[in-house]
Amino acid sequence: MNLILFGPPGAGKGTQADIIVGTRGWPKLSTGDMLRASAAAQTGVGRKVRKVIERGELVPDDVVVGIISSRIDAPDCRAGFVFDGFPRTVPQAEALDRMLEKKGLTVDGVIEIRVEDHALIFRIEKRAAESDEVRADDNLETLKNRLAVYREQTAPLLPYYEKQGKLFSVNGMVDIEGVAAQISDILDGLEGAQKTA
Ligand code: AMP
Repeated sequence: MNLILFGPPGAGKGTQADIIVGTRGWPKLSTGDMLRASAAAQTGVGRKVRKVIERGELVPDDVVVGIISSRIDAPDCRAGFVFDGFPRTVPQAEALDRMLEKKGLTVDGVIEIRVEDHALIFRIEKRAAESDEVRADDNLETLKNRLAVYREQTAPLLPYYEKQGKLFSVNGMVDIEGVAAQISDILDGLEGAQKTA
């Protein structure tokens, strides 16, 4: 099952992807995690990536698509994978569709976690307060930019996947278990449909 978890920063994509890893065994592919690892390296590329993340902007599409392309060829991705934070632009989604088609694969489902703006700000501030390692982009100023970038560049992916008949939405305003249960129902449905196909 090749899945995309979709939603604004702070929606809980990473948390829900971790739950899916535990319950279904598909690996989580988080471009944010991969890029933070690259930013931690003291290389020229690492320094550039770090600056982009700190501003709350997006890393260029070709960089992100390149990282994903090699990652999905790994043996642990054979039964499927869960994207967290990818794709984030229409060109990334188009590149992903082309890449998967070449490999005889497809995106099976896109699950949007819907959360209201005021809750996103509260959650990110909470994450920054509770985490040992504070993310450089978990502050109010960068968050506002990340939300603006989400609305302008990432939200247009919703009609992209809706047209493909792959979009599902869950209510992200309930607790973690409540969101996980809604996602699990969708995944059961998708797996059932795959078995009967
Ligand atoms: P995240 O952990 O998903 O919130 O991502 C943190 C930051 O990494 C984002 O604000 C972007 O700067 C960068 N990033 C993560 N995924 C992508 C992507 N698919 N395309 C471009 N930039 C990304």
